[in-house]
Amino acid sequence: MSRTELSGRCLCGAVQYRITGQPDDAFYCHCESCRRSSGAPFVAWGRVPQTRFELTQGALSKFASSPDVTRSRCTGCGTEILYQHKDCLPDLDFPLATLNNPEDVAPAYHVRTVEKLPWVQLGDGLPKYEAWRPKKDA
Ligand SMILES: [Zn+2]
Ligand SMILES: [Zn+2]
Repeated sequence: MSRTELSGRCLCGAVQYRITGQPDDAFYCHCESCRRSSGAPFVAWGRVPQTRFELTQGALSKFASSPDVTRSRCTGCGTEILYQHKDCLPDLDFPLATLNNPEDVAPAYHVRTVEKLPWVQLGDGLPKYEAWRPKKDA
């Protein structure tokens, strides 16, 4: 069943968000930056236009993890909630694992696998891209 609305929260619950409709995209990123930012070997991201993402509670602190990228996290517990790349605006990415029903949205492919840790074995049969996935309309 596909929900018309998704919601999510940080670890402490101070930050809550709502997404209208389903994400346009969902994927795993293996880049070092996502790894260090999350403390996990890779991160599953969902992508939605800014206009469909609403912060319904709490405050985010922003951090520029590179000149083009802003990462935002809960000011209380530090859970990463948003990733915004200058070139991807007005789209933003959010960690699928912060959804209240993360089982509803499954990643469809892997990106930045050139940076994948050698002890991460991918056996899910999903497409792998060494860098980024080529744009759908390209
Ligand atoms: Zn929190
Ligand atoms: Zn990444």
